[in-house]
Amino acid sequence: MSGSIDFLNESIQFLKGVGPRRSEAMENHGIRTVNDLLQFYPRRYLDRATVTPIKHLTDSSGPTTVVGTVISAGTVRRGRRRFEVVIRDESLARLKCVWFRRTGWVEKVFSVGDRVAFHGRPQKYGRDMNMVHPDFDKLDEDGPSLDTGRIIALYSGSADLQETGTTSKTLRRVIYGLFKDHGTRIPEILPESIRTRFQLLDGRVARRAIHFPKSQSELDAARRRLKFEELFFVQLMLAKTRQLRNREPGLTFDAPGLLCQQFMEAVLPFSLTNDQRRVAEEIFADCSSGRQMNRLLQGDVGCGKTVVAILALLHAIENGYQTAIMAPTEILAEQHYQSISGYMDALNLETTLLKGQQKAAVRRSALEAIGAGKTKVTVGTHALIQEGVAFDNLGLVVVDEQHRFGVMQRLALREKGRDPHMLLMTATPIPRSLALTLYGDLDVSVIREMPPGRKPVRTVAKKELERSEAYDLIREQIESGNQAYIVYPLVEESEKLDLKDAQTGFEKVVAEFPGVSVGLVHGRMKPAEKDDVMRQFKNGDLKIVVSTTVIEVGVDVPGATVMVIEHAERFGLSQLHQLRGRVGRSTEQSYCILMYDYPVSEDGRIRIDTMVSTNDGFKVSETDLRLRGAGDFFGTRQSGLPEFKIADLASDGDVLMEAREAVEALMSDGVSASDEEKATLSGYFSTFVFEEQAGMIRI
Ligand code: ADP
Ligand code: MG
Repeated sequence: MSGSIDFLNESIQFLKGVGPRRSEAMENHGIRTVNDLLQFYPRRYLDRATVTPIKHLTDSSGPTTVVGTVISAGTVRRGRRRFEVVIRDESLARLKCVWFRRTGWVEKVFSVGDRVAFHGRPQKYGRDMNMVHPDFDKLDEDGPSLDTGRIIALYSGSADLQETGTTSKTLRRVIYGLFKDHGTRIPEILPESIRTRFQLLDGRVARRAIHFPKSQSELDAARRRLKFEELFFVQLMLAKTRQLRNREPGLTFDAPGLLCQQFMEAVLPFSLTNDQRRVAEEIFADCSSGRQMNRLLQGDVGCGKTVVAILALLHAIENGYQTAIMAPTEILAEQHYQSISGYMDALNLETTLLKGQQKAAVRRSALEAIGAGKTKVTVGTHALIQEGVAFDNLGLVVVDEQHRFGVMQRLALREKGRDPHMLLMTATPIPRSLALTLYGDLDVSVIREMPPGRKPVRTVAKKELERSEAYDLIREQIESGNQAYIVYPLVEESEKLDLKDAQTGFEKVVAEFPGVSVGLVHGRMKPAEKDDVMRQFKNGDLKIVVSTTVIEVGVDVPGATVMVIEHAERFGLSQLHQLRGRVGRSTEQSYCILMYDYPVSEDGRIRIDTMVSTNDGFKVSETDLRLRGAGDFFGTRQSGLPEFKIADLASDGDVLMEAREAVEALMSDGVSASDEEKATLSGYFSTFVFEEQAGMIRI
């Protein structure tokens, strides 16, 4: 008998061992259907190889798993009230596990004689080794034991599940029962042709083996199959969205004409790089295709995305439309305004700036020019998407540093016109695996080439003891007419501390460089004050600017050739890379000095080494992704990254590529699938994938 999608969608209530109370607890945990339960993947496995004898534990063991028998369990009222469980293992050594908070439910869990696994960081305290608030699992006294070579699945140790008695042990029982009583009703979801081509384990076997592996190699094969499946459906979702989107009619522009030509030949003081030219062509083709453009332009800081955007603007203007460009901060919007209006003036086109901090009269006349269609280019911040901003005929929208905006904000800007073309730009180089997932429904252009004559920034790491070398370099650079940034970290949740750091640093720098004009920018200043300091830096009145990371994005001061980053060990990699991108913006040699202080964490060390060893933003971001994991890569919910249950974008790039290949083959009839197989695929897709993933669709 073959299985069905309907079975996967049945409630788990009918399963043996799942009463109303437990099913409610599990539902609160996101486990409602059979499919949810099957996909409640173990967080860890226990086998003989991963268990450490207690007598081998030391203070420096790090996170460790031990297995033993409970010899005592009880509340201790002496000193700080706590609950203690002591176990002994085959090495005859004792381990004490201690809970200080919420002890009520733990107290009910343990009885003398229980076999338990604990996972935590051991510490020597008094006579015994201790673990505080360890993860734990009760093992089946009766069932097959570790000693017979079994691999045992451990599930999420979350308290609310455990409180209703839904421990790993219970879950193992329930899932075991599911396979024993209903195993044959679990369907195969992937077509046979795909399974054969990519050498994937049978679906039912994989689902069983992830929970009850017979061997490590079976577990590995099951993992690969389930990762593939998960990534396959996300890619299918994106491919379908792209297909739909490519049918949406859009404004049809004529091929680029006189205005673009005039700009290239008479206004732009340099010629485009090959990459810039290629990307401009891609954009022109999109806008003339009759379909709406949805293109992401990726390119490292300083590669010259703005010029390409200007060409796109001019193309729209030639065709009679207005354009808008939105930036995430006032400084950036102003900077764009200055450089863009310079070019536009030369072409006799009006440019308007719209931002939060603006006099009422200025704002009113800006809104009038926008509404009447008089202004062809509007540059702004979030102020662009406010109510009351009405365009006459908006035909192209550019969003700079697009990851700084939420999906809703980008949508809101699009709504200001009637299906305008969209160009999204980002200077955060995104590793390919992440880009394919995040932006698989967009067309992507990449600029890799830097404008000619740029010298790669030289990056060095300096210990506190070598500080004078950093100051010598700054002195030397200022004497030859250049400028320097000194950046302090933003200490989260402690604006005060952060301010103190930058403030003290500022005073130190003023004392160190008598006669040199030094400015200070920090997060607590009003935007207008910040902008004022940055403006003075930009026009050369200030030689050094000391700041917290407020200057991070996009700021363009070509005269700056030194970037000193204080406490570099505390910064994330992509932030370090962004900061480094503030220098090296002219033909002068630039320098980035990473000041660090002990202790440096393992990751901090890797980050600093990465920065010193490469200038390639894509290499930097690959490492960043590996260190942080995909979920934290953007650090924002709004990134729309799907939450994977088993796949990991940082390490499963190859499986992702295969899944993508499979989707392409399927959509182009490159692999065969029977009608029944197709029905199963689309049934699974519409039941379990579509709703969950729909939120990740880009504008
Ligand atoms: P980003 O991609 O970081 O937004 P910008 O567009 O701000 O980069 O460009 C960085 C600098 O390089 C600007 O000063 C710009 O005028 C200059 N630039 C851009 N393209 C070229 C080019 N093809 N040749 C020379 N300089 C260029
Ligand atoms: Mg830029």
